[in-house]
Amino acid sequence: MAPRKLAAGNWKMNGTFAALDQIDRLAADLPTSGCDVLICPPATLVHAMSARAAGKLAVGGQDCHAKTSGAHTGDIAAEQLKDAGATHVILGHSERRTDHAETDAQVAAKSLAAYETGLVAVICVGETEAQRDAGETLDVISAQLAGSIPEGATAANTVIAYEPVWAIGTGRTPTNEQIAEVHALMRERLSARFPDGADMSLLYGGSVKPSNAAEIFATPHVNGALVGGASLKAADFGPIITALS
Ligand code: PEP
Repeated sequence: MAPRKLAAGNWKMNGTFAALDQIDRLAADLPTSGCDVLICPPATLVHAMSARAAGKLAVGGQDCHAKTSGAHTGDIAAEQLKDAGATHVILGHSERRTDHAETDAQVAAKSLAAYETGLVAVICVGETEAQRDAGETLDVISAQLAGSIPEGATAANTVIAYEPVWAIGTGRTPTNEQIAEVHALMRERLSARFPDGADMSLLYGGSVKPSNAAEIFATPHVNGALVGGASLKAADFGPIITALS
C-alpha cells in the first residue's frame, strides 16, 4: 500500500457556525478522487461540520485528552470527538506544545487514546528557528518522532506532519531541499520502527498556499499538507487540494 495523500486543514481557534458555508463551497468543487480531505475545526463545530460534510470530507479535532472521561475541565475526550463525527485528531501541534507545555510523552498518551477510540492521530513535529540555526533539526525531529509516536502506530491510524515552528503562520517556508531532508529522515525512522512505516502518510505544514503547494507536493516523501490559514477559505484550500490530487 502506498501512503495515502491527505490535504488537512487546521482552523485553529477560528470560525463560528457561519463559517460552515466554506464547507459547502469546498464540497461543491472537490476533485472526485486523488486525495483525502480533512478539516479540523474548533470543537464547537465538529458536530455541525460532520453533518454538513457527510461523505464528502473528513472532520477532525485539534486535540484530545489522554483519559477517556473525568474531572478535566475544558478538555475533550477522543470518544467525545468521535461521537460528534470526527475521524481524526491533530495531536502535538506546536501551538499546543508551546501554549500548554505539552511534552512528547503526553502526545504519545493522547495518540494511544485516539487509537483506542478509532481516531486517526495526526501527530505534529517540528523544530524552532533557534534549533534549525543551531543545526539541531534532524536530532529534534528524531527525538520528537521517538517520543510522540506510541507503539501500535500503523499507516492506518497515524499521519505525521512535519511543521517547522518558524514556518507556521509566518509566510516563510523551508527550501524544498530542507523539506526533503526532514521527510527522508522521517520515512527512514518510521520504516525502521513500524512494520508499515513506509506506508504512513507524511504531511508538510507551514505557510502552504495555492502558489507554493504544487512545488511542495513534488518533494519526495511529501504525501500532503497540514494547512492553517489557507484552509479557512474554500477559494484558497480548493486549489491546494487540486494541486495534490
Ligand atoms: C498549522 O496551523 O498547522 C499551519 C501550518 O498553519 P499555517 O498554514 O497558517 O502556517
